[in-house]
Amino acid sequence: MKAAMRTGTDQPAKGDRGTMMTGEQYLDSLRDGRRVALDGVLLPDVTADPGLGNAARWVATGYDRIRSGYPDGVNPIYQIPRTVEDLRARLDLVQESDVTVALTSAVLALLTAAPRLAMANPAYRERILHYFEDCRRRDVRFAEVITDAKGDRSLPPGKQDDPDLYLRVVDRDADGIVINGAKFHITMGPLVHELVVMPTKRMKPGEEQYAVACAVPVNSPGVTQIATSPHPRGSDGRSHPVSGRHTDPDSIVIFDHVHVPYERVFLDGEVEESAVVAHSLGLWERINGVADMARLGDLLVGMAQLVAEANGVDRIPHIKDKIAEMVIYATLVRAGLEASIAGATHTEDGMIAPNELYANAAKYHAAAHYPVMVRNLHDIAGGAVATAPSMADYDNPQLRPYIDKYLRTMPGVDGYYRMRLFHLIRDVTADALGGRELVSWLQSGGGLFAQRTVTRKHYDIEAAKDLARRAGGLLDGAEPASYPDGHG
Ligand SMILES: Cc1cc2nc3c(=O)[nH]c(=O)nc-3n(C[C@H](O)[C@H](O)[C@H](O)COP(=O)(O)OP(=O)(O)OC[C@H]3O[C@@H](n4cnc5c(N)ncnc54)[C@H](O)[C@@H]3O)c2cc1C
Repeated sequence: MKAAMRTGTDQPAKGDRGTMMTGEQYLDSLRDGRRVALDGVLLPDVTADPGLGNAARWVATGYDRIRSGYPDGVNPIYQIPRTVEDLRARLDLVQESDVTVALTSAVLALLTAAPRLAMANPAYRERILHYFEDCRRRDVRFAEVITDAKGDRSLPPGKQDDPDLYLRVVDRDADGIVINGAKFHITMGPLVHELVVMPTKRMKPGEEQYAVACAVPVNSPGVTQIATSPHPRGSDGRSHPVSGRHTDPDSIVIFDHVHVPYERVFLDGEVEESAVVAHSLGLWERINGVADMARLGDLLVGMAQLVAEANGVDRIPHIKDKIAEMVIYATLVRAGLEASIAGATHTEDGMIAPNELYANAAKYHAAAHYPVMVRNLHDIAGGAVATAPSMADYDNPQLRPYIDKYLRTMPGVDGYYRMRLFHLIRDVTADALGGRELVSWLQSGGGLFAQRTVTRKHYDIEAAKDLARRAGGLLDGAEPASYPDGHG
């Protein structure tokens, strides 16, 4: 863990530090009456389910690990990044932690959006700051709750045949609002404490009921989650070296007349500001994605090189070419990450935010080319990615000798090693977890379309036009630009 996270300027005053949860306290905190269904069954205790339980225990391990490095009791995930070093330390922490650390972006996005929301209603900023402090004291974790059911995609919220297809305010009283709707694909929804709800897109005049951002405890009356999880079912977890240990569940979160007190409401009808929170979140979401994909790129390269060596093809030119392509991919994603850190800028409140142009371009590049990198890996590895025997087969003394004999390739590469290498590649790229990853990297952070749009918005297209005009001598009186002809 990087020491820089401890040097921030935002440590709360002594006596106001709250308490960092232990892993065991975190697991206990999930037994709070939340309504979560998995595979058709409402779970009395999410930690007792084999798949969700493994995921929860992984998060618990992270609580203990972070706690042991920060004896003063303040969780570094709550440190507001003010400098480039803070930002880098945060992204390092994201890369080495479970996904709930990255999901703290939900509150960072609220903080980033606070100055703009205050222009609509100064109370929103106060409520966000108060909410942030309260969560820091309780050391809780968040889900980012944005993507609506959306119904017919060609119609706006108010024109859907069921008005709840976008989450909306259906009632209010002196204490708060009442919301109805469903949010889809909510990562870690079943295993966090707070649902940070925000509009999925900019709302227009007439759509005020849909312009709502708020925070809802997971166990609130009226909240039900239908979860999915890519953990292995009915087969030996040992044959799934990653997903057999833990996976990230997602869920559809249904809000059925949920009452939200005003102190937890951060946007309530101001359509002009409706896109501000999601936009801020998009940035944090994408930079976290780039950080993860930089690491994933290296993992893909590592698996490709190992399997090429194990198969005896690592010196063959077309295999070397494919691995070189993967190396370039991993390096460019990391370069995008570095550029978005180096080009970070400050918000009005002094918080530092990654550079939007580089973060979005890098996320787009990483997501758009990920399937090609997986194709390269499968091409190099061969069909045993799909058909390698399981660990249970290997346990059987009648089968083991055959596996030892026919999966080995050369001295130093025995059948057991090669079988396990194929298990890893299958698990991460070709099975339930691998399938989720393929869809997830494409769609997360709003999908390729969102990243293309934001990249285009921040790119200096006028400068590019000017360069083209000057290179062609199209500007009267202006010095012609030199043509970029530095190539040999
Ligand atoms: C594994 C996973 C985890 C996720 N985690 C979260 C999370 O934690 N929180 C969260 O809020 N969301 C999460 N998402 C949701 C993700 O942001 C969405 O999947 C993404 O924004 C696309 O929305 P959609 O799935 O509803 O697809 P759709 O909106 O149906 O989009 C499908 C395609 O149709 C296009 N399209 C749709 N409507 C229009 C239109 N009107 N005009 C032009 N093109 C259109 C889209 O550009 C896209 O190409 C997650 C998704 C996945 C797969």
